[in-house]
Amino acid sequence: MVSRTIPSWVVNLYFDHAATTPPRPEARRALGRWLDAANASGVHTDAREARTAVEHAREQVAASIGATPHEIVFTSGGTEADNLAVKGVVWAATQHVHGVPHVVTTAIEHAAVLEPLNWMAQRHQITLTVVASQPDGIVDVDRVMAAVRDDTVLVAVMAANNEIGSVNDVAGIARALADHPAVVHSDAVQMAATRPIDVAALGVDSLALSAHKFGGPQGVGIAYLRRGMAIDPLLHGGGQDRGVRSGTFATGLIAACGQALATASTEQPTLDRRLRGYAQRLHDELTALPGVTRTGPVADQDRLASHTHLLLDGVDPDALALALDGARLAASGGAACTSGAAKASHVLAAIGAQGSPLRLTTGWTTTDAEVDRAVDVLLDLLPKLRGRTRSAAQALTTLTRIS
Ligand code: PLP
Repeated sequence: MVSRTIPSWVVNLYFDHAATTPPRPEARRALGRWLDAANASGVHTDAREARTAVEHAREQVAASIGATPHEIVFTSGGTEADNLAVKGVVWAATQHVHGVPHVVTTAIEHAAVLEPLNWMAQRHQITLTVVASQPDGIVDVDRVMAAVRDDTVLVAVMAANNEIGSVNDVAGIARALADHPAVVHSDAVQMAATRPIDVAALGVDSLALSAHKFGGPQGVGIAYLRRGMAIDPLLHGGGQDRGVRSGTFATGLIAACGQALATASTEQPTLDRRLRGYAQRLHDELTALPGVTRTGPVADQDRLASHTHLLLDGVDPDALALALDGARLAASGGAACTSGAAKASHVLAAIGAQGSPLRLTTGWTTTDAEVDRAVDVLLDLLPKLRGRTRSAAQALTTLTRIS
C-alpha cells in the first residue's frame, strides 16, 4: 500500500531528487493548515492571521540563511527568483548607468538565469559575457574577475550546478568584487537541501531558492535581496511583497516553504553525511564497470553530496532512459528534458562531456535499501545496454518490467 505521506513515485527507486524532492511531513502539515487561508493582505481577523503565517515563514527563511526578514521575498519558484534578480537588477541599473550595462555569467548556469540574460542581450538591454567552466564544472574565480569591467552591473554565478553537482566558490567571487559596485547574484536552488546557506558568509547581494528542492511544495520560491539594493519588479500590481513582488500571498505554499527550510536547515549536516555515503557507494560500485566514469570535481567539498553524475561510454541515451524506466528506477538520463522535449545539455557541452549521462540524485527519503537495490539494478542493466540500439533496449525493458 502506498504511504499517505510519501508520494507513490517515491515507492519506486527514486533517484531524481534534484528534479524535485518530496515534501517533508512538516511542510505538508503547514500547507494543509493554511491552504484555505484568507487573503493575507486584508485587514480583518482571518486575514491578519494569514499574514502572521506569511511573516512567520519569512522569519524562518531569514533565520535559516542569515538574512533579515525584510530581505526575503516569496516568489512562484526558483525560476521567478532568478528572473527577478537578473532582470530587476539590470532594469534598476539602466536608470543610473550610461550606455548598455554589462553582465557576467557562466556557461553552466540554469536556464532560469541564462535565458533571461540571453533575452535581454538579444534586445540590446545588456552586453553579456559568459565565462567558461573548467572541465570539472567549477568556475574559476580569476576567470570571472577577468570578465568584469567598469560598467558591469551584475555577476551571476550559481552556488551549485543542478546537473553535475559541482560547487562554486561564490564567496571568493564576492570577496574579489568587494570594491566593485556590481551586484553578485547566486542561484543556490540545488544547495539548500544538504548545505547551510549563509548570505553574509557568501557575500552575495541576491540569492534564489526553490522550496521543492528542499522538502517544500512545488510553486514557491525565495528571492533574498540585500537590504537597500536597487531592484525593479518583474510583476506590477498590488505591490504585496515589499513593492517588489505583486500578487496575492500564496499563504499555504509560503507557510510550507518556511517550515521546510527550517527543517532542512536543522537536518543538513546529518543528511549531507548520509547522502555522501550513498554517493561514495554509487561511485565505487558503478565506476568499477567498464566504460563508466563520474563527472564533476574530485574533492568532496567541491561536490554536492546528493549528486552522482556518470558518463556511460557506448550506451544509447534513449535506450538508457527506456531501460531505467522499465526497471522503475527514476533518474535523469540521456537528456535534460524541458517542456517534454529532449534537449542536449548545455552544461555537459560546456564541460566537454562525452558519453550518455546518467544523473542519480538522492534526498531525505533515500534509504540504504533503496541504494542497494539501485546498485543491483544498474550493475545488471548497464553492461547489457552497451552497444544496444533503442529497439533492442525496448525488448530488454519489457523483460525487466515483467521479471
Ligand atoms: N535553478 C536551478 C539550479 C534549478 O535546479 C532549478 C530547477 O530545476 C531552478 C533554478 C528552477 O526552479 P523552479 O523549478 O522552482 O522554477
